[in-house]
Amino acid sequence: MSDCLFCKIGNGDIPADIVYKDEQVIVFKDISPKADVHLLMIPRLHINSLNELNAEHSALISHMMLLLPKLAKDQGLEHGFRTIINTGKGGGQEVFHLHIHLMGGTNLPGFNN
Ligand code: 5GP
Ligand code: ZN
Repeated sequence: MSDCLFCKIGNGDIPADIVYKDEQVIVFKDISPKADVHLLMIPRLHINSLNELNAEHSALISHMMLLLPKLAKDQGLEHGFRTIINTGKGGGQEVFHLHIHLMGGTNLPGFNN
């Protein structure tokens, strides 16, 4: 998608602090971190949100899920981490390119602290 912010980060048109990339995904630091560690994982493929996922994306989604604990460990989050996927305006989604928030550290805001 030509005017998608995260597609532009994915193809290098807009700079980001990238911490991991492979042929399927890119992981970069959130520009406005809500925790000590706050990363965003995006697929290189443009998918609007979870609402647009289908069975053809199964391998991609599996790849993303399996990567999360490895990235968390690389970030020093041995004690745990939080993942968030906001979906749709009602779910607080602001950027309509599927992304998983990976958050952790001592400043973790949340549901029960
Ligand atoms: P959402 O609310 O859509 O789940 O989350 C979008 C996230 O993208 C927000 O946490 C916001 O801080 C982050 N964000 C928005 N624009 C940029 C940007 O240009 N660069 C980076 N690295 N993060 C961004
Ligand atoms: Zn996109």
